[in-house]
Amino acid sequence: MDAARLMERFLRYVRCGSESGNERDFCLLIEEEFRRLGIDFLRDVVGEAVGSNGWNLIASIPGEGEAILFSCHMDTVTPGQGILPILENGVIRSAGDTILGADDKSGIAAVLEALECIFEEGVSHRPVELLFSLCEERGLLGSRHADYSRFKSKEALVLDTGEIGRVINRAPAIVHLHIRVHGKASHAGVEPKKGVHALKAAAEAIANITCGQPDDMSVMNVANFVSEGATNVVPDLATFDMEIRSFTEELLQKHIREAESALQKACRTYGATYELALTRHSDPLYVAEDGPLLTKVRELYATMGVQVRVEGTFGGCDATWLNAHGIAALNTGTGMQQAHSVHESIALADLQTVTSLVYGLIRG
Ligand SMILES: [Zn+2]
Repeated sequence: MDAARLMERFLRYVRCGSESGNERDFCLLIEEEFRRLGIDFLRDVVGEAVGSNGWNLIASIPGEGEAILFSCHMDTVTPGQGILPILENGVIRSAGDTILGADDKSGIAAVLEALECIFEEGVSHRPVELLFSLCEERGLLGSRHADYSRFKSKEALVLDTGEIGRVINRAPAIVHLHIRVHGKASHAGVEPKKGVHALKAAAEAIANITCGQPDDMSVMNVANFVSEGATNVVPDLATFDMEIRSFTEELLQKHIREAESALQKACRTYGATYELALTRHSDPLYVAEDGPLLTKVRELYATMGVQVRVEGTFGGCDATWLNAHGIAALNTGTGMQQAHSVHESIALADLQTVTSLVYGLIRG
């Protein structure tokens, strides 16, 4: 690989701001890269659906053998405009008033550098497909709406987490619950007994709903507890939201049932009723540890002396949607550190290591 070119490429990408919803300039920059490298691409026009002025970029490079898909997101969190990257002791960070954007431009730089090397060398390689998505940081919106009919790959590598060697093969199913507890209003001073106290019922339910980590495979949270009204009125409405994330569907359903039974019990005590609306955000993701891609990642990293750690994460990434469309997707570290903060950084050595991994996977 050309280390200087890799660094220059990464710096060029992070200087082009692309906060979620405003990715257009960066899309154009990557299209320019594709043209220069002779890569066929298409615009996957999902911008309007996800509230962005950009588009997903999908590309395909013919080769021999089984196709492999690489996926990274083009958007960044804020503050991500006017990024001034600084190199210091082999580490690139921002000037301190913005994020760096290594999340996820380190992944894009690694993939395009690896491809450029392969084209220069004229060596044989697998067919490669690319999905560079929009609005990942806004809830995986670009990958959620992507046109999966364009892909032939059965396996994918998402390059969108921290430490080198970290491989995520498990992500949770996520549901949001919106709960409305209905009581009956009455004058709290004159005839309080005629009221049904929605706030007390909701509070008792919340007190009995687990928050945090009910088991190793799940996390739960309660938020937005609201019951507005005058102090002389028994509240007739209280609402709150919940989020449950679990690595297995069984545990997810169990925690939904438990939350609902706490709600039923509290409502019975107070004579209140409730409505529960459930929104499903994603299905559980699991890629077997002995699958071909993970085996190959282990082999390649072993030759580089990198220790592979396979783990789950409760956070989301585009791998969730690839997996939902039948593409076994792992997420691996690019070396980005302290993402989503103005202290974000990446070591050049790590950027080179992940580029070598991508190169090796493309060679097959
Ligand atoms: Zn990311």
